[in-house]
Amino acid sequence: MRLILLGPPGAGKGTQAKLLKEKFKIPQISTGDILRNAVKNNTALGVQADSFMAAGQLVPDDVVIGLIKERIKRDDCDPGFILDGFPRTIVQADKLSETLEAMNLALDRVVDLEVDPEEVINRLTGRSTCSECGGMFHEESRKPKVAHVCDCCGGALAQRQDDNKATILKRLDVYQESTAPLKEFYKKQGNLGTVSAKGSVEEIFSRICELVT
Ligand code: AMP
Repeated sequence: MRLILLGPPGAGKGTQAKLLKEKFKIPQISTGDILRNAVKNNTALGVQADSFMAAGQLVPDDVVIGLIKERIKRDDCDPGFILDGFPRTIVQADKLSETLEAMNLALDRVVDLEVDPEEVINRLTGRSTCSECGGMFHEESRKPKVAHVCDCCGGALAQRQDDNKATILKRLDVYQESTAPLKEFYKKQGNLGTVSAKGSVEEIFSRICELVT
């Protein structure tokens, strides 16, 4: 199964992608996670991406397209994959279609997670993320059992550098301008499904499963 999770920052793409990965035994490919790791390890890619990410802007298309092209050709993607945070522009979506076509593959579903901007701000300003496994917590709705420690792997929890109000607002603008048009793009291709991203993680997950199975 080849899936794309669309939706604004804070819609829960990462959380839902992790659940889908467990259920369908296919990899979650998060461009944000790949880029954050590169920044953490100070690789050439990280150095290139850092200032864009810190400012809430998109990393240039050719950089992320190159990453995805290489990643989806690996063997673990043979049974499928979940793209989380890619594509984010029409150029990226076009290149993805081209790459899949050349591999004789097609997307099964594009799931758009819908959530209000006010809800996004509350979710992201209270969010902390595990530096080891990427697990996500929230100061009100999903507190870790031990403060600043990940329940899943014991890693240290930290707030992402781009989860502050000014950068969140910028990311929402960028989403509206560059990523929201992808809904129309995939609607025309006939594989867009929309799911409300309100409610508990489990409720949202069961809505997604209904759509994709
Ligand atoms: P995310 O973890 O998906 O919220 O992504 C965090 C940041 O990584 C974004 O604000 C961008 O700076 C960068 N990023 C992630 N995915 C992409 C993408 N597909 N295209 C461009 N930039 C991206």
